[in-house]
Amino acid sequence: MSVEAGMKLDTIITGDHVLSASGWLEPGYVTTASGKIQHVSAGTPHAQLLSQAREVVDAQGMAVLPGLTNGHTHFSQTFMRGLAGGRPLLSWLKELIWPLQAALTVEDMRLAALLGLVENLRCGVTHVVDHHKITSSPAHTQVVLEAIDQIGIRATLARAWADRGANGENPDVILKELKEGLRRYSSSSLNTRFASGPLTPWRCSGQMLQKTHALVREYNSVTHIHVSETREEVKMTMQETGMRPINWLDSLGVLDEHTQVVHAVWVDEQEMDLLAERQGTVIHCPVSNAVMGSGIAPVPALLKRQVRMRLGTDGPASNDTQDIFETAKAAICLARGLACDASILPPEQILSIATDGANLAPGKAADLILVNLDHPRAAPVHDAPSALMLSTHGCDVDSVMVNGIFLLRKGINLTIDETELIKECKLSLQKLRNRAGL
Ligand SMILES: [Zn+2]
Repeated sequence: MSVEAGMKLDTIITGDHVLSASGWLEPGYVTTASGKIQHVSAGTPHAQLLSQAREVVDAQGMAVLPGLTNGHTHFSQTFMRGLAGGRPLLSWLKELIWPLQAALTVEDMRLAALLGLVENLRCGVTHVVDHHKITSSPAHTQVVLEAIDQIGIRATLARAWADRGANGENPDVILKELKEGLRRYSSSSLNTRFASGPLTPWRCSGQMLQKTHALVREYNSVTHIHVSETREEVKMTMQETGMRPINWLDSLGVLDEHTQVVHAVWVDEQEMDLLAERQGTVIHCPVSNAVMGSGIAPVPALLKRQVRMRLGTDGPASNDTQDIFETAKAAICLARGLACDASILPPEQILSIATDGANLAPGKAADLILVNLDHPRAAPVHDAPSALMLSTHGCDVDSVMVNGIFLLRKGINLTIDETELIKECKLSLQKLRNRAGL
């Protein structure tokens, strides 16, 4: 697409490596206007084009690419880093995470969400899925939604729920809140989306999974659920239902293109066939799975079946960061190590998964990031995808734009005073520890 003479542009970004829909342009440039990408082209912009732009950004030594998607985290855990502490998942949840979550005030939740969003922003994430738990009160949810508005990256709030066991909620309350959220955030033009977040098969009844999944289908949203993270969980579902977890979800009719299965570490061949057939998405969280000693997901076998995949960091209590670059490298390393095959997950493929298949093309929302590759860990660059997926850390992200607006520019957060935020978080955490008896 050519830029019409005289057309007003908001921004022109020139970069050494620009990821267009048809491949890398080295060098290349991107123009934006009214929140959308207008033009993606090889070479350098001519003088007349430069004169049409309000702002010209020189991204020399950088890669310009679509923002990354963090497919699974828990903002509440921003206050729980460093607590994996050598415990397996179930005792970690019962002894540490649930008591701390129960003690989170609305103000703690607000600060934790802001800090979690800032960390994602700084790591080049333009869309994050917060599996928002738990739901002490609607006010806890409201402050997360306000924090998302304040920081400005796109977010899906998957409202966590469980109607069985510890912290089980009244099904009517779950359905009412889900319906309200789905209705309010149903438009794809909004930065925030709403989803259903059943916590695990062993904490949710079949009947409620069916009812909530019918709602998400009605509103074109998703069911976002932790499944088969540990072997113990698989055993629990089998003892109760006689079926493996993926088979059980399928028997309920809740496994389809509106289903996001988080972890899927312990899935067998037949479950993987079903995931592919039903077009469910696996949210792969390799760092969290390894930190918790849960296992290594069978990514080579999932890829062979072309199962849809997204990357997730999982919450900071089990990772301990939300750096999706680190997650991408871990995904490559673990998959290749598991398969004893260096050809698995080439950098272009993991980059496509990390960006959720997005590309920079005219007409698309201007959600993009500038990543510095001009440093000793990455330079000199032979191959931009390798430099990004094997040599880059979140701290190399120079700028982040969402809807054509810079939220991070030259490493400076334009949305919030981070020093003040961290100060408030430290004070809040001390009080939280005291209340939770840690
Ligand atoms: Zn999780």
